[in-house]
Amino acid sequence: MRNQGLVVAIDGPSGAGKSTAGRALAERLGYTYIDTGAMYRALALKAMRSGVSLDSEEGLATLCRASSIELTDGGRKVILDGEDVTSAIRSPETSRASSLVSVHPGVRTEMVARQRELGREGKVVLDGRDIGTAVCPDAEVKFYLDATTPERARRRHDELRAAGAEVTLDAVEEDVRERDYTDTHRAESP
Ligand code: C5P
Repeated sequence: MRNQGLVVAIDGPSGAGKSTAGRALAERLGYTYIDTGAMYRALALKAMRSGVSLDSEEGLATLCRASSIELTDGGRKVILDGEDVTSAIRSPETSRASSLVSVHPGVRTEMVARQRELGREGKVVLDGRDIGTAVCPDAEVKFYLDATTPERARRRHDELRAAGAEVTLDAVEEDVRERDYTDTHRAESP
């Protein structure tokens, strides 16, 4: 137990239900919900907008250090340098790019430091892929959520359609498989 409460870590691949479960749990407990994937997504969006190569570790790490990424409104809103990018970071293009920016150790070091700081006092639910292993290995409670690839794709597809995106289920499933591959074959926190 820290000063304020527990650290709850929810790990697992995309579309497994981490954010739905994490948000509901945080609400029930009166904890702060932190969607760490949204932070990588915000950086990916900024890199695409500013023309920084997704292959450039140094460029991305510098961009990351110069970026303000806030999670507000109980984790529902993502604010990048003062701009509300909650919807913009959910596009398929940003999803793909987020997986590419997150392979770089220089980016992860900065993100992990920020996420640790957010969890330092406890009373938080953190959702991501490396929370229980790299960000908060000493979390008091750890969950790992998973689901089959078609089921995860179906959920992502529903989410995207609900947000007005014109995407096919096949395309979303292909994206999910591609991202799974990148996320599980990287050198740092695979
Ligand atoms: O969870 P979400 O799909 O929003 O995450 C977007 C991308 O950010 C993932 O595909 C993954 O590459 C990266 N990510 C990560 N570590 C985390 C959270 C997300 O590498 N803790």
